[in-house]
Amino acid sequence: MSGEIFYENIDKLDAMLDSRQISAVELATVFIDRKNAVDSKVGAFISSNEEELLANAEKSDKRRANGGKLSELDGIPVGLKDLLAVRGQKLTCASRMLENYVSPYTGTAMQKLEGAGALFWGRLNMDEFAMGSSCENSALQKTRNPWDLSRIPGGSSGGSAAAVSAGECAVSLGSDTGGSIRQPASLCGVVGMKPTYGLVSRFGLAAFASSLDQIGPFARSVKDAAIVLKHIAGYDRLDSTSVNVKIEDYPSKLSADSLKGKKIGVPKEYFASEGIDPEVRQIVEAAIKKCGELGAEIVEVSLPHTDLAIPVYYIIATAEASSNLARYDGIRYTHRSDKAKDVIDVYFKSRAEGFGEEVKRRIILGSYVLSSGYYDAYYLRAQKVRTLIRTDFEKAFESVDAILAPTSPTTAFKAGEKTSDPLAMYLSDIFTINVNLAGLPAISVPCGFASDGMPVGLQMIGRAFDESNLLSYAYAYECACDWNKRNPQL
Ligand code: GLN
Repeated sequence: MSGEIFYENIDKLDAMLDSRQISAVELATVFIDRKNAVDSKVGAFISSNEEELLANAEKSDKRRANGGKLSELDGIPVGLKDLLAVRGQKLTCASRMLENYVSPYTGTAMQKLEGAGALFWGRLNMDEFAMGSSCENSALQKTRNPWDLSRIPGGSSGGSAAAVSAGECAVSLGSDTGGSIRQPASLCGVVGMKPTYGLVSRFGLAAFASSLDQIGPFARSVKDAAIVLKHIAGYDRLDSTSVNVKIEDYPSKLSADSLKGKKIGVPKEYFASEGIDPEVRQIVEAAIKKCGELGAEIVEVSLPHTDLAIPVYYIIATAEASSNLARYDGIRYTHRSDKAKDVIDVYFKSRAEGFGEEVKRRIILGSYVLSSGYYDAYYLRAQKVRTLIRTDFEKAFESVDAILAPTSPTTAFKAGEKTSDPLAMYLSDIFTINVNLAGLPAISVPCGFASDGMPVGLQMIGRAFDESNLLSYAYAYECACDWNKRNPQL
């Protein structure tokens, strides 16, 4: 075995496993060694279990040897954001509140991956309860950007992005409520996809804002993301918002010609935004031009309510969070204060000690917008504007097949740069949040590097449940460039 196997795509790894060039146990060892070599710097993993990985790899080897390979993911080590439930594994949400919580069951998406033969390898850092854009809200540890260790990896799924970028796992899962897959993917130079709301079951995903949360893949290529998505998507009766649509074989539908003759929209409001870094804008504009050269007709579209997305999101998401996080009460599976004098005190002290600042800020804000007297003025109003945002997209998609935009307004910023200014942090998601509010699928693909050496991502937004075409457009762009072939030097 030579070269940097930990930077290979699933296709290649699967072929190597098939031809016995490498065994699953050897492959697992490659990732264990890689993690041991770099994770003290990157800090992506909250926990990992080498013995279990090796034991499962051995089982995978037996399956392949007996001609019983479960799928192209059989024997491939996968990382999980630490809010996805796997039976018998800790699930911390990067919070003191759940530091010692162990899942009694495995969530649907993870069960499907397991059924496909994928090997759970480690649990990855995140902003506490998925609230943040830099991973700095984790109560447990810091994660750094593999391209520059003085910078953040993005958030909230920062560990999932950094682990794939640094070659510590082949693919990973994260969750995206307002940009938490796409933004860190963009900042770490990997592919990240948020599926249509309802495509992937949320059963076993610790809830932040239930009407926005979706599980999705991080990968080193569009095809790898398509492979993972194919396996995790599908109807699930355990999630009442799961939608029963036909799941296509995304990887086999990918075509390098797919942009030919397609009409692609560019929202004028996104590029008029003051917050966008001029260099990021220039790189994204060049990527859009490239799509034009690949045969797409580029047209301007308008999403007039774009500037309302952030305020609407921070009303709806915090309202839902205040309700979802009420279950962490110190009585059942969470941290319990040992300073409490009576039962009421248990609630107050446990929550005061267990939650971090940002989580508390959101619970307070969410409780406020839902409280009687303010509900109509804030929550109800935000729901109405959410409908306007969705209608903007519906109108745009009457004339275009996909929409192109930046993923993040800037490249990865320095650690500590925005921690004291929550509003500045919130603006990191200015281009991703409205996609969640509209429930649409979107993917971030690497599209260049800024002069500071940091990666930039192109966001492609699709029609609801049009993952197959969206992945194909992203693939066509990726085939014409080699941005995703570059790797950080660690
Ligand atoms: N950064 C956004 C927030 O802080 C989005 C988080 C997410 O998608 N989970 O809420």
